[in-house]
Amino acid sequence: MSKWQKSVAVVGGGPAGLFAAEILSRAGVRVTVHDRMATTGRKLLMAGRGGLNLTHSEPLETFLGRYGSAEAFLTPVIQAFPPAALRDWAAGLGQQTFVGSSGRVFPQSLKASPLLRAWLRRLGEQSVEFRLGSEWRGESLDADATLLALGGASYPRLGSDGSWTGILAAKGIVLSPLRPANCGFKVQWSHLFKERFQGQPLKSIALSFTDRIVRGEAMITADGIEGGAVYALSSALRDAIAADGQAIIEIDLCPDRSPDDLAKALARPRGALSQSNFLRKVLRLSPLAINLLRETGQPAEKLKSLPLTLTAPQSIERAISSAGGIQLSELDENFMIKRLPGIFAAGEMLDWEAPTGGYLLQAVFASGAAAARGILRWLDGVTS
Ligand SMILES: Cc1cc2nc3c(=O)[nH]c(=O)nc-3n(C[C@H](O)[C@H](O)[C@H](O)COP(=O)(O)OP(=O)(O)OC[C@H]3O[C@@H](n4cnc5c(N)ncnc54)[C@H](O)[C@@H]3O)c2cc1C
Repeated sequence: MSKWQKSVAVVGGGPAGLFAAEILSRAGVRVTVHDRMATTGRKLLMAGRGGLNLTHSEPLETFLGRYGSAEAFLTPVIQAFPPAALRDWAAGLGQQTFVGSSGRVFPQSLKASPLLRAWLRRLGEQSVEFRLGSEWRGESLDADATLLALGGASYPRLGSDGSWTGILAAKGIVLSPLRPANCGFKVQWSHLFKERFQGQPLKSIALSFTDRIVRGEAMITADGIEGGAVYALSSALRDAIAADGQAIIEIDLCPDRSPDDLAKALARPRGALSQSNFLRKVLRLSPLAINLLRETGQPAEKLKSLPLTLTAPQSIERAISSAGGIQLSELDENFMIKRLPGIFAAGEMLDWEAPTGGYLLQAVFASGAAAARGILRWLDGVTS
């Protein structure tokens, strides 16, 4: 079936919009991608700076469990475009992928730029047109259907600033507020601690909050703490702070020692060693770890459960992603916004969130694919 007589405006040239544009144009639809920025895929390129974690290799059931309350919505979406399909797609653009030691999947180049270049070339060959530097402000576009793929609100300088929330709310669409996800948190460090340790990593630690324990790293910032282990707990921490005004995490500075082992080490005679030198020599703690104990006013017995009070999430501008967006119940089975016939939505602007690990891009691509299939079905329905 050729749909050349039909046209779709895709607004937002991030991975969700570009992937929908690829599927639609391959099906014979005339596609124009609009983006407010002068080039597309800026956030994808930024993700490439961290190696471009495209997806994850764990079993699909475990994978789907990472989406929390959006799991039921995203399960058929990701089953229709699973991690293996995303890896095949990248390979088709010349970017073979590999599984890292953590199970995360990356392109061998550990970059996004070669992938994006090959992708844009393919879209050009499929006659996709680009209207760049063109900001959508809520107007109807000259097309048979419109796909909104406007992203969330993290890193707004890359193009997605969440300004679409006001436009859609004014049209009666129910949204959850955009909130930082995979973000750092504020801690009131003393001046001395901040001056000496900002920018330094706390390596090989475990963080715990409620019943979750995460091993990894964290970074001290001028006004708080960030990094992989913090991001992994961030949605629960953010929600706890919203409810209670603060959240207390516990830091295990010696996760490889059992509590007994630690107690025995601490009971050893110190001789003339100061407490700091004793901790450095006997427990091999870093100056940062030793000073964190001092900063929090805790005794060495608390090295495996150092409480740290977080007072607020860092701003959404510095978050890896955002939670919130168009509530999933606003969409029909074609990813069309029920109250706005002919207007569809995909990607991070929908109300789901996920941890880092490749879960973000996987759901972004899969939802772009689902919206493209929905648009094709809808165009079929309205033309027949
Ligand atoms: C530093 C960083 C590292 C990341 N690393 C990873 C990673 O390794 N793995 C992973 O899975 N995810 C990662 N992510 C997250 C991932 O990049 C995003 O989830 C993904 O890019 C979202 O895709 P999207 O297409 O929905 O939106 P975006 O990529 O945000 O694209 C939306 C597009 O819409 C355009 N736009 C917005 N508003 C308008 C408007 N009004 N008019 C016209 N155009 C508009 C924007 O300019 C933008 O081009 C990372 C994010 C950041 C910030």
